[in-house]
This record gives sequence, C-alpha cells and structure tokens, in this order.
Amino acid sequence: MTSTTVQQTVSLTAPLSGIVVPLEQVPDPVFAGKMVGDGIAIDPTSQVLLSPCEGTVSTLHPAHHAVSITTANGAEVLMHIGLDTVLLKGDGFTAHVTEGQQVKVGEPLIEFDADQVAQQARSLVTMVLITNPDDFSNFSFAAGKVVSNQDIIIQAGSESAATQNSEEAQDFTAVTSELIALPNPVGLHARPSANLVALAKQFSSKITISCHGNAASARSVVAIMGLNTKQGDEVQLTASGADAEAAIAAISQAIKEGLGEDCQEAPLATAESLPEEQSLLAVTHDDPNCLLGVSASPGSAIGVVVQLQEQTFDYPETAENSEAQVAALHDALDAVQQDLTELQQQMTQQGQADKAEIFQAHQELLSDPELIEQGETFIHRGKSAAFAFNQAIDGQVQVLKQLDNPMLAGRVSDLDDIRNRMLRKLLGLTDDAMAMPENAIIIARDLTPSMTANLDPSKVIGFATTEGGSSSHSAILARGMGIPAVAGIDNQAQQLADGSKVILDGDAGQLRINVSDEEINNIQQRQAKQAEQDQQDLASAHDHAITTDDHQMEVVANIANLNDAEKSVKLGGEGVGLLRSEFLFLDRATAPSEDEQAQQYSAIVKALQGRPIIIRTLDVGGDKPLDYMPMPAEENPFLGERGIRIGLNRPSILRTQVRAILRAAQGSESTVRIMFPMIATLEELQAAKQVVKQEAEQLGVSNYEVGIMVEVPSTAVMAEQFAEEADFFSIGTNDLTQYTLAMDRGHPKLAAQVDGLNPAVLKLIEMTVQGAHKAGKWVGVCGGLASDPQAVPLLLGLGVDELSVSVPALPAIKGQIRELSLSQCQTLAQQALKAGTATAVRQLSPGR
Ligand code: PEP
Ligand code: MG
Repeated sequence: MTSTTVQQTVSLTAPLSGIVVPLEQVPDPVFAGKMVGDGIAIDPTSQVLLSPCEGTVSTLHPAHHAVSITTANGAEVLMHIGLDTVLLKGDGFTAHVTEGQQVKVGEPLIEFDADQVAQQARSLVTMVLITNPDDFSNFSFAAGKVVSNQDIIIQAGSESAATQNSEEAQDFTAVTSELIALPNPVGLHARPSANLVALAKQFSSKITISCHGNAASARSVVAIMGLNTKQGDEVQLTASGADAEAAIAAISQAIKEGLGEDCQEAPLATAESLPEEQSLLAVTHDDPNCLLGVSASPGSAIGVVVQLQEQTFDYPETAENSEAQVAALHDALDAVQQDLTELQQQMTQQGQADKAEIFQAHQELLSDPELIEQGETFIHRGKSAAFAFNQAIDGQVQVLKQLDNPMLAGRVSDLDDIRNRMLRKLLGLTDDAMAMPENAIIIARDLTPSMTANLDPSKVIGFATTEGGSSSHSAILARGMGIPAVAGIDNQAQQLADGSKVILDGDAGQLRINVSDEEINNIQQRQAKQAEQDQQDLASAHDHAITTDDHQMEVVANIANLNDAEKSVKLGGEGVGLLRSEFLFLDRATAPSEDEQAQQYSAIVKALQGRPIIIRTLDVGGDKPLDYMPMPAEENPFLGERGIRIGLNRPSILRTQVRAILRAAQGSESTVRIMFPMIATLEELQAAKQVVKQEAEQLGVSNYEVGIMVEVPSTAVMAEQFAEEADFFSIGTNDLTQYTLAMDRGHPKLAAQVDGLNPAVLKLIEMTVQGAHKAGKWVGVCGGLASDPQAVPLLLGLGVDELSVSVPALPAIKGQIRELSLSQCQTLAQQALKAGTATAVRQLSPGR
C-alpha cells in the first residue's frame, strides 16, 4: 500500500459572538463525546449565524437549526444552534441560505430569535464542528470571548496525516450489499451516522451508502445525515477496495443492528406484518348479511353502493431540467392555492363553515415553507416535481405518524388530500365530480375532505369507511351534512358490487347487505317515526325537562365557541355545562392574551342571555398539543402533564385565563363558573383555587363559583372530601371511562369496549353523586354519556342534577326526559349497578 501526503488546512472565523465552551462541557453526550465531529461550542450573545468559511452549503436541516458548509479543500463544517432545537420545528429560526448555495466568510446563514429559542429549548449553546476531523491534524481552538466574523476559532491542518489509499486508484470490482431496511426510529441522524463513519474508517475501501437515489460517502457524518433517511427506508452499500467484501459484511450487519441505537422500541416487524387474528372479545354477528363497524354519525339510510376508488398516479422519478421542475412545482402550488380559495368561498356561500375551515387549513399546510423547501431540495437532487412533492409530503406524514398521536391522525388525511391535488395539477389530470346515482352510500377506505367536496350532496345519503373512527374527518363531515356514517366497517364492504342495495345503520354502526323488501319497509317506518319525533322535540325544545313524576333535570350544552353558544340557545339549551376553552387556544402560533380571552368569554356569556355557564380552564396536553408550547414527548401522555397539571406547572397560563374568566363574570347577569379539568388530588384543587381567590380579590369580583371535572377514579372515590372544597362537580365520562377501565379512549382496537355504561363507571358516578349531595353540592355529567339515550335514564336514576349534551342533541334529550319517571329510573339504576357488563346494562336500558 502506498500513500500520498495531502496538504490540508482549515481556518474558521467565529460564526457568532459569545463565550467559547469546550466541546467536552456541552451537556449532550453525542456532542461532548465528539461523535458528530471535533470543534468547539459558543454560548452566543449574537443572533445571526455567519459563515465561518468559504464553501458550499451542503445541508440545511428542515428545522433550520443546523447547517453545514463544505470547503473547497473538503472540510465539512457543521453548525448546530442550541440543544434539542430540532423539536422547535423551525419556530424562531430564519434561514438565509439554501442547500447548494456558495457562501463567503461572514455571510448570514441563519438568524434566530434568542429569547424565543432560549425559552423553548434546552440550551442555546451552538456547536461548530468539523465532521471529518480525521482528514486534518494539529487542531487549535479559541477560548474565552469571541467576536463574530473577527476571531479565528478553529485552525487545523498543515501537514495532514490523512493518507489517501492508493488502492482507491486501483481497479477493484465494486461490491454491493443487499437492500437493508433501516431499523432506526428516526433514520440515520447524528448518532447512528457517527457510528457508521467510525466503522467505515476501519476499512481501506471506498464505501458509499445510497438511499432515495442519492449516495453519500460512508466517511462523512454530514453527507449521511443529508440522505434524509427515515425508519424503514432501504439503504444500499457499495464498496471498492481490497477489503470491500469484509466492509460490506460488517457495515451491513451493524446497520441491521441499529448502529448502536436501541431500536427495540420501534421494531420493523410491526403487528401489521403478523397475520390478523380474531380477538376473543371481538363483537361478531351470526348474521352474514350484517357487516360491523362503529357508529360515526347517527341515523339510517337505504341506498345503493358506490365504491370510491383512490386515484393512482404515474410519473417519472427523475427529471433533467431542475429549473423547469421548480417552476412547475410553483405553478402547481399557485394553481392549487387558487382552487382551495375558490372551494373555501363556495363552501362559505353554501353555509358549510366546517368544510370551508378545512380548505383554509389546507391552504396553510400547502404554504408551509418547510414542505416547499423539501420539494425543491429533492428537485435539485435530480427528481421530477411530482416525485419531489410526493417525497416531501411523505416526510411530513412520517413525522405525524411517529408522534403516535391519534389527534393528529386526521392531519395525515389532510396531507394526503393536498398531495393528490398537487399531483393532479402537476400531471395535468382533472378531478371531475363523480357521476353519482341517487341515494348513494359511499364505501371507501377513508374519505378526504376533497373527495367529499366533489360528491354531490343531493345524491349521497351515507358513508361507510373501512378506516377512521368517530373522530375522523369523514365522521365530522357526515355529522355536518346530517347523514349517517359508519367507520371501521368490515373490509368485506369493499367487495360489494356498485349499485347493490344496502342499509346503513349509523346508530348501530352496521351495514346490512342483501337486504329484503321487508327490512327496507321496517327501516322506512323507523325513519318516518324518527322524523316525526324530531319535529315534536324541536317544537317543545324550550320547555323544561320535567319527568312524569315532576322532577326537573337541567339540560345544558357542551360548546366550543360563540357559534355553538348561539345555536344552543335556539335549541332550548338552559345554559352551558362545558365550554371547552382549549378550542380558543388550539391551532395558534401564540397564546391568546388576557384581553383577547376576556373578550371571547364575554361574547359567549352575553349570547347566553343570562343563562349560566361553566368555563373549563385549558384542558390540553397528552393528546391535545399546543403549537406554541412544545412539550416533551411523553411515554404515557394520558397519564402525564395534562389538564390542570399544565396550569399548575405553568401558573402564568392558569392565572391569565382565570383573570379573563373573572373579567367576563364581572357585571354579567349569568352565573359564571370556573371548572378545572382532570383533578386527581385535593392538593391540585386547593392550589388552583388559591389562584382564583387571589385574582378575584385583585379584580374585586365575587359572583363566581369554582367546580371540578370528575374524570379520574380517585376523585370519584373521594367525592366527599372534594365536595368540601368545590362548589359543584361535572363528571367527564369520556375520561372517567378510560381511566377506570385503563383503556385509551381513542384506541381503534378497544373502541367497542370503552363503554361508559360499564357498571364500574356507573358505581363511580353513584359515589360522586352521594359524596356531593351529602355536602349540598350538585353534580352534572358533561361527557358523551349525557347525550346517549341509553344512559339518560340511568344518570337520572343515579341522582345526577344536570346533563350537558352536544348542541344538536338538546331537543331530543329534553324530550326523552319528559317521557321518563324518576322513580322508575331509580329502580333501573340500581339494577344496572348490579349488572356484570356494559352489554347487560345496555340490555336493561334500551334507550328511547
Ligand atoms: C370528558 O372527559 O368526558 C370530557 C367531557 O372532557 P373531554 O372530552 O374534553 O376530555
Ligand atoms: Mg376529559
């Protein structure tokens, strides 16, 4: 083996002003252990990261917190602003360069808002690293205070010990590995890349790793990270040199084993790759003509099957003229934005505010700079605009899926939707409205909002989807359209011939096939009766809900905004039992100010014209993330920092909200009640109450009450003690059920078993009522059970004083109560408490 000596020098000026922190002192083992590269860190006092050298921007992380420059003599310089700043997803960072751009010393690379980043990230300390340090020698590093674009912070080089193996110049046949699926949960990020490089350097062969049609040197951490890989991506190694075979064998094995990362948590062989099995608890039906799913929107419909096929797209992966592809991408983006604006206006004009909002959200998703930049990056790597956009969307879908957050699942179908729109535009395909027969019952895997927007609402009378649940888009849209829907329907539904007659039962969550005339008759009679009943309930919606034996139940509404408040008054709501205030906080870049909150609460209180209102303090965390308050991912989000726990750990948020509610109470004719969510211990209630007391004294407000949600079994069991401290209780049966049964309320496989009519939950409701009544306090129910006709007699019988129901259900629940007798309900409730299962309870209480 011969070697040639290479002249290598590198000299970097400070990209930021600040104090030098030796790399070993950086509080992150990956950087401190020099796994990513050698260099220094700077605790910055300036906010614009300047280029420390002349070179090419080789990578710019999509979150804009890290950038690397490759110099003409091959030094790879990575700058990483702060620790854990990737989690900020670009918030607070502005990139001034793009990948592939040539930069001079001192040119601005990234600007960051130090205050914002410092508040949200672990540290602002910024690493400046040479990620191929083995190619250099004689490093010297600055210490103490440095001034950006002035002081030299890193020097290395002169006579490099780096040798170039003459074998590289020889003619060796390249050895290629098999395709290897990456087991690493977030692909080849810094740590596994560093380990791969360390291993590659033990061999003399030239080794490359390729993925998505791009290749990177296996000796460059930055180049490997630049492959932008994710879990499950297939990579391939190529080596040429004397030890190529051994290198391929060793590195392939190391990649399969996770390159030092524990990939056990997210094994590639997921449950999906195992054969499906029938659960022993699965609800089955003896009747082969009955396909089962879950109820997604109530009502029933008789109609004909229309199978909605997903559109497939055919396009080349690569394209020659990058500029033309970028232009095509931007033309398509503009055209789709235009279509979405028109759709949004059309929906608004048709009074379909829900759909209009969805298309507005799509416009925002489509203008995400990260998405567009990703698309452009792929194009600059030689990809066609269609392929590039598809890949960029895939990246975002993967991010959402990795969050394992059921709330964000709906966003995946939004992304799919804009993907399809863009691909149609780029490929010149049309999205004509489907020719639809009368009385169409749509069967599909899932429905995107665009698919439903293209359906003729005068012809579609129901949906059945094999995917999705009761909170999926199709369910929300079906409810908005007032048509029945079933989600998670048996896959067999997709085999039904177009035009075959079916009955969709949105209440029972079933689709009946091979239907007889007799069945159709029965359903038609049921529908006619239901329509008559609805008319009667509506006509008496403003009467009180008084049982046949003269017991009055207060029936109030669950609302999320002013519009709901106004609707509830029209439908006979006697007040608001739950304002889910978090809806005023979600999908925003910043927290609403006290004034803004006070103004919104006051408007809602005013709309109720003197009726009482319960405003629940912010109930986010776990499954409901806030964009402007990043919280660390939690192992068990429902058992973590959620509900009142956030208010107690971040008192400024609670205090601001409490002041805004008290200001809305000031001088109002309604009784304004403050309610804390997810109270589990007495200390939590006492601490939260103290905040209310202090703020009320400051504002001089006294016309308010303080109550709690009973959502955790500990609170129900200790109702007597809590009743000493709270003015009222409202039982959140959605959470109380999930915590009692230890079953995630959004889990698709447990949906059928998470039933609030389980006798264990009823027992806890009974304990809550008894504890409260002993102290002269009242109890409401604001969870889903209050709107369930099978639960209403039982809640009445258990002594519940108030039902807070979904706005459209107000007339029917009031109507049902007027038909019941309290004493019979009490007997029924006692029987239910002795039942063994939720199914047995439902048999006892068949509903209206
Ligand atoms: C509940 O848990 O029953 C409840 C009403 O609260 P949310 O559904 O908003 O968690
Ligand atoms: Mg709840």
